[in-house]
Amino acid sequence: MSDVTRVAVVGAGGRMGGMLIRAVAADARCRLVAATERAGSPHLGAEVADGVVVADALSSDQPIDVIIDFTTPSATLAHAKFAADHGVAMVIGTTGFDADGLARLRTLLARQPVVMAPNFSVGVNLALQLVQQTATVLGEEYDAEIVEAHHRHKVDAPSGTALALGRAVADGRGVDLEQRGVFSRHGVTGARKAGDIGFAVVRGGNIVGDHATLFVSDEEQVEIRHVAHDRMVFAKGAVRAANWLIRQPQGWYTMRDVLGL
Ligand code: NAD
Repeated sequence: MSDVTRVAVVGAGGRMGGMLIRAVAADARCRLVAATERAGSPHLGAEVADGVVVADALSSDQPIDVIIDFTTPSATLAHAKFAADHGVAMVIGTTGFDADGLARLRTLLARQPVVMAPNFSVGVNLALQLVQQTATVLGEEYDAEIVEAHHRHKVDAPSGTALALGRAVADGRGVDLEQRGVFSRHGVTGARKAGDIGFAVVRGGNIVGDHATLFVSDEEQVEIRHVAHDRMVFAKGAVRAANWLIRQPQGWYTMRDVLGL
């Protein structure tokens, strides 16, 4: 293993890709060795670090320790195939996988060290912990609702982070989110059922990420809210995960493992 983490950033021209390239450049423990974009992207051919030009595919010519992937579910599956074939670790931030896609990803990456997290910020991972604890203490007497807001370009809803918050509520209560989650309300929905875990979604402008988990009783309301001001928070977390991951044995880790929470 090299003394610095050799990183490939896929989706280099994306909102997160650009941040990741800056975050890798700012961290002395790692070095960018490859960057890719989809075929036809205007970013192909751009030099994003010393001698690193954006290519349309990963190549085995250059040794890579970790692929950092914030792209799309189908692209991430293709990158996972490369990682599996070449024994490369992966840090995955892509959200929006369906159950089948996630199962395929886990099968492909069964022998690699992987960190996958719907949110790489330290603050959100702390919030997940607090939400689970709060749900345990307050129980179903308090109605749990998750409200999230993101920029107008986001393609999946609710956000991966909102779903993780919902799972934290469900875990804290010892129930299953699939059974208790209410993902949309429209028309005559009937009264709210005790134990529901509700989701509401806002999309607009340039909102980086805003998540509030509300616990509401007849007498009081507890809110745990996280607001991301800058995407760099996710990029720094992903680079921290990459540096941590290369020292771990094969396994599937979350950001809570990276942070030791
Ligand atoms: P984006 O659309 O700006 O960027 C995605 C990039 O991937 C695009 O430039 C696209 O051309 C590129 N791409 C698509 N297919 C590719 C392929 N086969 N090879 C290489 N590149 C390819 O999106 P974004 O806002 O940067 O978000 C990307 C993903 O990351 C989304 O799923 C989003 O939800 C997720 N995200 C996760 C976190 C987190 O902390 N986990 C934070 C922010 C965003």
